[in-house]
Amino acid sequence: MSLLSIRNVRKSFGTNLVLNDFSLDVEAGECVVLIGASGSGKSTLLRCVNLLETVDDGVIELDGTDITDPRIDTDRVRSGIGIVFQSYNLFPHLSVLDNVTLAPIRVHGVPKARARTQALEMLDRVGLADKASAKPDELSGGQQQRAAIARAMVNSPKLMLLDEVTSALDPELVGEVLDLLCELSSEGMTMLICTHEMSFARSVADKICFLDQGRLLEAGPPQQLLEHPAEPRTQEFLRRIR
Ligand code: ADP
Ligand code: MG
Repeated sequence: MSLLSIRNVRKSFGTNLVLNDFSLDVEAGECVVLIGASGSGKSTLLRCVNLLETVDDGVIELDGTDITDPRIDTDRVRSGIGIVFQSYNLFPHLSVLDNVTLAPIRVHGVPKARARTQALEMLDRVGLADKASAKPDELSGGQQQRAAIARAMVNSPKLMLLDEVTSALDPELVGEVLDLLCELSSEGMTMLICTHEMSFARSVADKICFLDQGRLLEAGPPQQLLEHPAEPRTQEFLRRIR
């Protein structure tokens, strides 16, 4: 059984069909990278998995549970999924440590002292142990994004969703964030990642999926998909971004 199983998902906004009979499986420990032109449906797919959007049709199963069932406890599903966006979304008035402990304490009822210990461990893991009491605006963009990753990881999620997490960063800060993601993947974290960073995708992905107009047009191991794409649209996309 796959950790994440997306089957025949359809999603429209008005008359705009954004996910069209979309199916994808992610196995535990796998790193799957989604690529495709802007507007192809990558973010919407991640948002459907995190229940920020409801699907119109199809099923999404996480660890054997149908999370598209309308009776599902959304908070509980989300607590098993870490999500990080392009913009860091850290609360500016809270310290880095308080950003990381907020959800565990408020949403999940973790006792304060334990939440703090876990948060400090996670900040250490992302290389920010010395920034725990800093405010977000005292950090570089790369540090802020690493803090956002620590915040998403602190509940020990089963799955991490990462949506263009380096797109807003200055080029010299991209590497530190991608290195962290490589590390998390090699430690066995299951990840579904949207990115335009092809050399990162090549080195970290078990599978790369090319989305075209809401469909999964082609998927395969990095070497195959990037070097020998079968579909003309995939070839054209790769030519354009290189
Ligand atoms: P990508 O992440 O691949 O760039 P998105 O999933 O963001 O693509 O968008 C896919 C399509 O869905 C686009 O046409 C976008 O305009 C539309 N879309 C996304 N979110 C919404 C929304 N909340 N309301 C209406 N249309 C949306
Ligand atoms: Mg997007």
